[in-house]
Amino acid sequence: PSRATLIDGKAFSTGLVERVAAASARLEAAHGVKPGLAVVIVGEDPASQLYVRNKGETTVRAGLRSDTHRLDATTSQADLLALIAELNADAGIHGVLVQLPLPTHIDASVVLDAIDPDKDVDGFHVVNAGRLAVGLPGLVPCTPLGCLMLLKDQLGDLSGLNAVIIGRSNIVGKPMAQLLLGESCTVTIAHSRTRDLPAVCRAADILVAAVGRPEMVRGDWIKPGATVIDVGINRVPSLDPEKAAAGKTRVVGDVAFQEAVQVAGRITPVPGGVGPMTIACLLANTYSAACRSIGVTPEP
Ligand code: NDP
Repeated sequence: PSRATLIDGKAFSTGLVERVAAASARLEAAHGVKPGLAVVIVGEDPASQLYVRNKGETTVRAGLRSDTHRLDATTSQADLLALIAELNADAGIHGVLVQLPLPTHIDASVVLDAIDPDKDVDGFHVVNAGRLAVGLPGLVPCTPLGCLMLLKDQLGDLSGLNAVIIGRSNIVGKPMAQLLLGESCTVTIAHSRTRDLPAVCRAADILVAAVGRPEMVRGDWIKPGATVIDVGINRVPSLDPEKAAAGKTRVVGDVAFQEAVQVAGRITPVPGGVGPMTIACLLANTYSAACRSIGVTPEP
């Protein structure tokens, strides 16, 4: 049986980071501005600590400025808002990112909307969601932006294609739908109340799974030749029973890869597909925010 082409997000993201690094170096040489990213983390969540460390290291490797602010889990909302106000006012910082989740005594939506929309490199501010919805330039959430880059790289013009997105979160599903609509796809957003999800998926030329349910999308949900983008990152027990008993895990996507790869035309693996694109797009957003802060048009 034929097998799908693997979409190598790792390789694409490496190239993207290199392009951002080179463009940032040119920006600094021409205008004396080095793009700067501030990442704020509250508390000790180990997964968040790892994400924040990776973001910082990749930022530095690309030659951008990286500041990490580590706050105690008991930090008050007022103190966090005061730090964000400081970063908003800091001309050397062009991107401000608050790592989620926040401790429960802090209202995440208040905090995210306190970030200057023009420094909101995660693209979660309501102003940036609005800009995306009405087609104005703005900062776009990194994960769906990365998915779109992979799709355009693979397929070129997306106009007229049927795109089905499973998931309607504000950080992945909804902005993904807006981006694909902007590319003139015919967009369907599916979610937990969708009736006959397999049939909806079978109509998709582009299927984006952003659900958070391990291997939910089966091979027979996929139209032969379709392009499948698997956003899911799910930890499940190791296949080896002994290792599983010892608590070892492995990462799988929202798509049953071994089935899907027999049917799809192209597919992103997990890991190594969408995952690495997210940090690369964060750097791209920081670079473009730095350009706009001094009225320079970012290089494509
Ligand atoms: P959310 O939990 O916020 O959203 C999940 C969505 O899936 C919801 O809209 C929900 O529907 C829908 N859903 C849940 N169960 C079903 C079902 N049985 N059938 C159909 N739809 C269902 O998740 P996120 O959007 O934040 O993340 C999705 C996945 O992507 C996760 O695995 C996450 O780890 C991963 N992720 C990966 C990133 C990366 O690659 N860097 C970045 C961000 C996320 P409803 O709204 O009706 O509840």
